[in-house]
Amino acid sequence: MSLRVRLVAKGFEVPLVVEQEVAQGAIPAGHVRVRLAASGVCHRDLIDRQGRIPYLSLPVTPGHEGVGRVDAVGPGLDPSLVGQRLATLHRDACGECPRCLEGNTSFCAQAAHVFGLTADGTYATFITAPRSAFYAVTLDEAALDDATAACLACTFGTAYRNLVTRGGLKAGESVLITGANGGVGVAAIQIAHRHGARVTAAVRETRHVEALKALGADEVVVAPDGRVHDHCGGFDLVLENVGASVFPHALRCLRLGGRLASVGNIDPTRVPLNLGQLIVFGQTVFGAGGATPDDMAAVLALHGQRPFVLPIAGRMRLFQAEEAHRLLAQGGLFGRIVMSPDPDTEVSP
Ligand SMILES: [Zn+2]
Ligand SMILES: [Zn+2]
Repeated sequence: MSLRVRLVAKGFEVPLVVEQEVAQGAIPAGHVRVRLAASGVCHRDLIDRQGRIPYLSLPVTPGHEGVGRVDAVGPGLDPSLVGQRLATLHRDACGECPRCLEGNTSFCAQAAHVFGLTADGTYATFITAPRSAFYAVTLDEAALDDATAACLACTFGTAYRNLVTRGGLKAGESVLITGANGGVGVAAIQIAHRHGARVTAAVRETRHVEALKALGADEVVVAPDGRVHDHCGGFDLVLENVGASVFPHALRCLRLGGRLASVGNIDPTRVPLNLGQLIVFGQTVFGAGGATPDDMAAVLALHGQRPFVLPIAGRMRLFQAEEAHRLLAQGGLFGRIVMSPDPDTEVSP
């Protein structure tokens, strides 16, 4: 059976539609068709669903976190790709522009195939997309299970790109990670810890404290109102995972010359920025875009040395996509919900 979930209208009033026995069309040149084993449910899926990113093209299959094996390839690709394990990046890349040639494929201006927004995403049995929109998962299922592999790029890849590739994190530096109980947060704690940083995690609820310490946080601050600077400060690097409600407070946690990576946009409200503070304190604010194949190769190498932990908040079936969105929208989950296209998959709440 070939399934796909369709988003047919913006917002939550119109339920997601599950289509069955979906026919597979011809595969365009340079594209691969992947039979997906798992699909992550990400907070961005809710943002996409509400049309808060201006590129949403309806109807569309949601989701940008998936893993599986190549089922068939289009013209121009090596047939030996069939069977290879691939997972999704956020989008494709041209492979020829200066940004692509320097390895910053997520800064490619030619890319137009954005999973779940401009192109069909991962809430499906099959996904057909340009080969450049995937990275090779060089570990097998025994070393990296499907649930973790599906979400690896959007969590550990995003954390790695912001902390290490773009953030230049060095051993001995102090790092603050806000929204630390989310997927990127738990990944960032582990990556920063392994790079020898001193890690402070910030959350809203005390119930996450012990689990985050177990993942490598040296200190966990609980700021129910998001005012993290009431509790800590002077950081070399801040990874801000929440958005407008926390960003201004997180910025005040930087030392002079410190840098802040902005990753969270849960609340898309715009924020006022104190330019005087930025100038006088010599601080850097940047957004990093999605992980690249190079970032993912580094993440896979680290995982191969010692496995990362990605908490799975629930396992569900594609049929339950609407329920998955409802659970995620409620907030407070510890880790990711992962869905399987296999209707016989065991589910766990
Ligand atoms: Zn995601
Ligand atoms: Zn390019």
